[in-house]
Amino acid sequence: MQIITTVNRMKEYSRKASQNGKSIGFVPTMGYLHDGHLSLVRAARKECDVVIVSIFVNPTQFGPLEDFDKYPRDIERDKLRLEGENIDVLFLPEADEIYPGGCAIEVKADNSISEVLCGAARPGHFDGVATVVAKLFDVTIPDKSYFGQKDAQQTVVIERMVKDLDLPIEICVEPIIRENDGLAMSSRNMYLSGSERAQAVKLFEALSEAEKLIKGGEDSSALIKEKMKSILAEGKDIEVDYIETVDANSLRSVEEVGSDTFIAIAAFVGKTRLIDNILIK
Ligand code: AMP
Repeated sequence: MQIITTVNRMKEYSRKASQNGKSIGFVPTMGYLHDGHLSLVRAARKECDVVIVSIFVNPTQFGPLEDFDKYPRDIERDKLRLEGENIDVLFLPEADEIYPGGCAIEVKADNSISEVLCGAARPGHFDGVATVVAKLFDVTIPDKSYFGQKDAQQTVVIERMVKDLDLPIEICVEPIIRENDGLAMSSRNMYLSGSERAQAVKLFEALSEAEKLIKGGEDSSALIKEKMKSILAEGKDIEVDYIETVDANSLRSVEEVGSDTFIAIAAFVGKTRLIDNILIK
């Protein structure tokens, strides 16, 4: 595994690999790697000749009151985890490599997909995500890039960016990897106290109940959301940000749950904001 820290070196590497006819798989992450991240790395390893993983905690996708400074970072541990995955390159830039002249020009996603759901509480977040992913694509020149369904709205924004900007990159969306009790793996789970960790599983329980209701023939979004709300209310430290049923492509709210609906939750458990979702096919 080569470690590359500069944009120029990374570009040079990717160009050479491309010219040699190698397919490039790229997995962007913010590090503090868990098995959810590694599932993307393994998918890339299976499908591509060259696998590049980036670790970059992107400042432009954090709001001023968010957790950029305290976001968990442990590069040595991440390197060890990646050593076991047979990747080709770990791209590890500093912020001034990615934004040498600041960030005066951004990729701006349409409000209909960037200011709903998580974007309502995190204004500008998805523009920051789209911008950094566009820049990372430019540097790593991937044929395929791998994202987790865990961040469902992010996948919609990136898929639209690739489509609307005609980028020749296939976006591969991989399933959510969960802890044994169902909690979706997340770097932010390490913020949870013991009692909060026990309550956090309510997000998965609420989604599982929704899935059960839908399998039983229920399609009323209002009724499903009500039931989910009552499950989340059982956690004394849980404060719901949103429970939504949306079309999986447009992210527009739906009143009847049908195929291709995301059922999505964002909730604070104590001070930690967690998200989770299921896709109804
Ligand atoms: P992050 O480091 O949080 O920016 O995540 C990097 C990538 O890993 C994103 O595409 C996430 O959607 C994906 N990811 C995060 N958690 C999970 C999970 N539990 N299962 C699958 N993919 C995940």
